Amino acid sequence: CGIVGYTGLNYQSAPILLKGLQKLEYRGYDSAGIFVPDVADNMDQLVKEKGRVAELVDLVDRSDVSGTAGIAHTRWATHGVPSVENAHPQMSANERFYLVHNGVIENYLELKHKYLTDVPFVSDTDTEVAVQLVAKFVEEGLTTFEALQKMTSLLADNSAYGFLLMDDQEPDTMYVAKRKSPLLIGIGEDFNVVTSDAIAMLDETHDFIELNDDEIGVIKPESVRLFNREGEEISREPFHVDIDA
Ligand code: GLU
Repeated sequence: CGIVGYTGLNYQSAPILLKGLQKLEYRGYDSAGIFVPDVADNMDQLVKEKGRVAELVDLVDRSDVSGTAGIAHTRWATHGVPSVENAHPQMSANERFYLVHNGVIENYLELKHKYLTDVPFVSDTDTEVAVQLVAKFVEEGLTTFEALQKMTSLLADNSAYGFLLMDDQEPDTMYVAKRKSPLLIGIGEDFNVVTSDAIAMLDETHDFIELNDDEIGVIKPESVRLFNREGEEISREPFHVDIDA
C-alpha cells in the first residue's frame, strides 16, 4: 500500500522512514514494517508489526535500530491475512534480500511451483515469491540488478507492482522497479529517497523523478541511475513539487 526508502551519508534512516509511514497512514493499512541494514555490526534489522505505525515506532525505539539506509512499508493485505509474517519487508530464505511491494502478482503460485519448490516459505504473500526469485537467480550467478530484471520479466502482464529491494551485500543501495503502481525517486544533497507518494517525503526533498513502467532504478546516497526495459541507461530530469507536507 505505501512505500518509503532512504539512503544517505549523514542521518539515521529509521526516524525518516517511520515519519514517512505516518504520512502514508491516511491511505489505510493493516500492518507495517521496516528494514535497516547495519553496516557497523553486520546485523540486519527487520522490525514488523500488525496494527498501528505508532506500535512499530515503539518497537523500533526499543530495538536500537541504527543505520543510514533502509526501506519501509504499510501493507494492505491482498494475499495472506494481516500478520507479522505477512507484513513487509519480505525476506529471502538466505536472509540476504529484503523487498517491499505495493500491488498484486497475478501468477505468483505458478512461479512458486515452477522455480521455488525447494525454498522454505514463511509467509502467504505473493511478495515473498518475488524476493525468493531474486535470491535464487543471484545464487545461480546473476547480479542483483539482473535478477530483479529477470524476476520482473516473469510476472504476468496483468500484475501491478511497485518494488523496493535491498541486498545486504550492498547496504547503501536501493533497487526499484514498477508497473501500474506509482514510484518516485526523491533527490537530496547527500541522500536520495524512494516513495509511492510524494507527501511522505516532502520534509526531505521537493525534487522527484518519476519511474515509468518496466524501468529499473539503482539508488545510492550520491547517485540515481535509471535503466529501460532493455537494460540501457536512460536519463530523466526531476520535477519540482510546489507544496508543503
Ligand atoms: N500483495 C501484497 C500483499 O498482500 C502487497 C499488498 C499491498 O499493496 O500493500 O502482501
